[in-house]
Amino acid sequence: NVHKPGNFLRQIIENDLQRGTHAQRLWGGSPGDAQHHAQGGVDPARIRTRFPPEPNGYLHVGHAKSICVNFGLARDYGGTCHLRFDDTNPEKEDQEFVDGIIDAVHWLGFDWQDPEGGRENLYWASNYFNFMYRAAEYLIERGLAYVDEQTPEEMRANRGDFSRPGVDSPYRERGVAENLARFREMKDGKLPDGAAVLRAKIDMASHNINLRDPAIYRIKHAEHHNTGSQWCIYPMYTYAHPIEDALEHITHSICTLEFEDQRPFYDWLLDHLREGGLIAAPQPRQYEFARLNLTYVVTSKRKLKHLVDSGTLTGWDDPRMPTIVGLRRRGFTPEAIRDFCERIGVTKDYAWIDYALLEACLRDDLEARAHRAMVVLDPLKLELTNWAGVFGSAEHLEQCELPALPHAQAQGQAAPVRRLTLGREVWIEREDFAEEPPKGYKRLYPGNRVRLKGGYVIECTGCEKDEHGNVTRVLATVVPDTKSGTPGADSVKVKAAITWVGVQDAIAAEVRLYDRLFTDPQPDAGGKDYLELLNPDSLKVVTAWVEPSLARAQPDDKFQFERFGYFVADREDHSAARPVFNRIAGLKDSWGK
Ligand code: ATP
Ligand code: MG
Ligand code: MG
Repeated sequence: NVHKPGNFLRQIIENDLQRGTHAQRLWGGSPGDAQHHAQGGVDPARIRTRFPPEPNGYLHVGHAKSICVNFGLARDYGGTCHLRFDDTNPEKEDQEFVDGIIDAVHWLGFDWQDPEGGRENLYWASNYFNFMYRAAEYLIERGLAYVDEQTPEEMRANRGDFSRPGVDSPYRERGVAENLARFREMKDGKLPDGAAVLRAKIDMASHNINLRDPAIYRIKHAEHHNTGSQWCIYPMYTYAHPIEDALEHITHSICTLEFEDQRPFYDWLLDHLREGGLIAAPQPRQYEFARLNLTYVVTSKRKLKHLVDSGTLTGWDDPRMPTIVGLRRRGFTPEAIRDFCERIGVTKDYAWIDYALLEACLRDDLEARAHRAMVVLDPLKLELTNWAGVFGSAEHLEQCELPALPHAQAQGQAAPVRRLTLGREVWIEREDFAEEPPKGYKRLYPGNRVRLKGGYVIECTGCEKDEHGNVTRVLATVVPDTKSGTPGADSVKVKAAITWVGVQDAIAAEVRLYDRLFTDPQPDAGGKDYLELLNPDSLKVVTAWVEPSLARAQPDDKFQFERFGYFVADREDHSAARPVFNRIAGLKDSWGK
């Protein structure tokens, strides 16, 4: 169902599809010089979107929204979405980040192949440098661009601001021939960095500052990973981006609201290039939506990098990072993230989304499919003192069964079973025993009965303590004939069932209890110092006892640890010899409560 709520872009696309806005596009003879140019005759009435990351960092949850929007719309309407690396900056592109971005998009469940023909729509902005240069010369020839040699300070001062119009540059009225010659000198490396820029000639009095003769080319004597030393001038993003979209025949260029003020320039540029026959009609249109702001999270690349470089976190994939690799290692699933992006919708409203919603999506995804397991995070030993008397031997073991997927059973599906053994000694949670029970306490205290979940009803008889008065062992007796699943199970009523793991087959595991990275919902806002708002309890590591079914856990397997929440076997560190589980999220939202 493509009629999902809260996505105004769907309305726009459906109207375009109905009117056939993109049906008549003829690409033949497009002057783009890119080798990987998405050309090829007549495109059926398909939409094309794109996701254009700069390969200068790892993608984060905000990018996930953009990915879900762009790839999601293409998928839902039978179109295609391009992955385009925006490498117009000559800064050294890092293969690590390129690979990371490719992995992240794939992992989220998307790809960039045409639905028919299987063309790989993966592009590099730098492949269009020749075309961009020619388009710049065209603008100069048409009197629509000029070389400005004011100092950067003069240019800034003369741009004016919201209260006053800009002042024309003394170079603004240069003739075409002089501009062309000077621009070629820029290109040929005759001028040092910063000596001149090429500016579009639009309107120095415009209320939109972005139209006050924006710079479109600057000098930068720098090697480029793709074009090497071919260029010492590079296009500005605002100039390059519309051209990239046009050459790839993007129909809907979807970006965040910060770019709304750039749209008039986007259209100005493409209108002129189309009139000049440099690009095909109809040209791409830009649409803006509100970026994702998620509570308890910072998404600034600089700040995330600092958290990694300073050793505050263990890396870009630290399970507390809001990066896609971090969310993945934390145990979030692509399904949960896509559901999250769907639920927050696409709007133009500036809003903060509660991190708890992301966790709710994770629970909804795992509830029905994550196998249950019992674990004891804060272990206390319990001894069933009448065990030998009841079962004839202190070493006797009772086989117990619990459903791995309780929902499957309730829905009549094949229900996998976990087998546990109960013996004379079991590990229980320290908080499940109270020598002097607080009011309303239903678990173990002398004289009270509880059920060991999936096992027997037991009655607490007392405890042993060390010289400091700490409880070292709880004593109880097993009530015969009360085993779960047997006819006598309900003969004794109890108010609580507690989780446990048998001492004889418990497995020791490292359990990493992750929590919010920050104590403040908006650690980034209004002059706050995010480094002072780090949650000191964002990671607590415990050695737990876990039930034997977890011996088969593979890295990345997810579980519901009964009563504690959802956990994942760590992708990097977990092995059968040394089990490591990460807490993804609690069973319900308890943050701050
Ligand atoms: P920087 O500007 O520091 O490079 P960036 O977050 O803009 O960082 P890009 O690689 O340019 O990174 O982003 C790729 C795409 O992801 C852009 O189209 C951008 O609009 C989108 N995007 C980035 N952050 C968010 C966000 N929080 N919510 C939605 N979309 C986002
Ligand atoms: Mg950017
Ligand atoms: Mg940005």
